[in-house]
Amino acid sequence: MGPVAVAAGLAVAIGLLAAAGVSVAIARGEIAASPTPSDTPASSPGPSTIGPVTAGSAAQSPEPDTAVSVVPDPPIDDVESTWVVVNKSRPLEPLQWVPPDLVALTSLPGGSSERMRAEAASALVAMHAAAADAGVPFAVTSAYRSYDEQVSLHAGYVAARGRASAERFSARAGYSEHQLGLAVDVYASAACELKPCFADEPAGQWVAEHAHEFGFIVRYPLGYYDTVGYIYEPWHLRYLGPELAAEFQDSDAATLEEYFGLPGAPDYP
Ligand SMILES: [Zn+2]
Repeated sequence: MGPVAVAAGLAVAIGLLAAAGVSVAIARGEIAASPTPSDTPASSPGPSTIGPVTAGSAAQSPEPDTAVSVVPDPPIDDVESTWVVVNKSRPLEPLQWVPPDLVALTSLPGGSSERMRAEAASALVAMHAAAADAGVPFAVTSAYRSYDEQVSLHAGYVAARGRASAERFSARAGYSEHQLGLAVDVYASAACELKPCFADEPAGQWVAEHAHEFGFIVRYPLGYYDTVGYIYEPWHLRYLGPELAAEFQDSDAATLEEYFGLPGAPDYP
């Protein structure tokens, strides 16, 4: 479990640095955390220092003479990390994990009974304020869901739609990003709530364009079912933290699986 311990340490270090407003620079082969002036925005353009794990992938580098830089052991297996990658072949470990720092989204429309991990919740509040300023506010449908809640939700969809159909959009308990406290489903109109047409609404377009500025990505893009295991969900936003979200946005990867060089996960093993 050495790599896991290292990954956990890395996650903690990044979390602490991020919390302190410190820019984290990660170079190939070593981790260099260099404090920078606090007025440096986390999303400022710069060399791609986090980078995809798999060299030779379709990753884009702003510096052609520089090989793809990597984090030696990105904390993608660490359920505590905002970098954790969960899909149909990568369950939460432990399966019934509960985030330690859930906070209510009471200030957001639809958020009165919804929760996320503290860092993600703060970012979502900031993103909502920016969207509202832009004239395209959104509301929250669903954020954190416990293992037991996911059991019920998934069973309901399976009963109504059949397993094969249901599992194109509903995760089994222990396999949902919502259980991480890092995912949120948002909407702008009842007509397009949890529907692909959210992408065509002004709020959906704004979210797709700006989510990364707040540390979120649209996790299940159009046309990547065989990679991510889910249909297009323009409403499902996953919090990665500002550094990774910015690096992801600057890369050619459309999914976390591609970004970290992981195999596609269209089905459960
Ligand atoms: Zn979702």
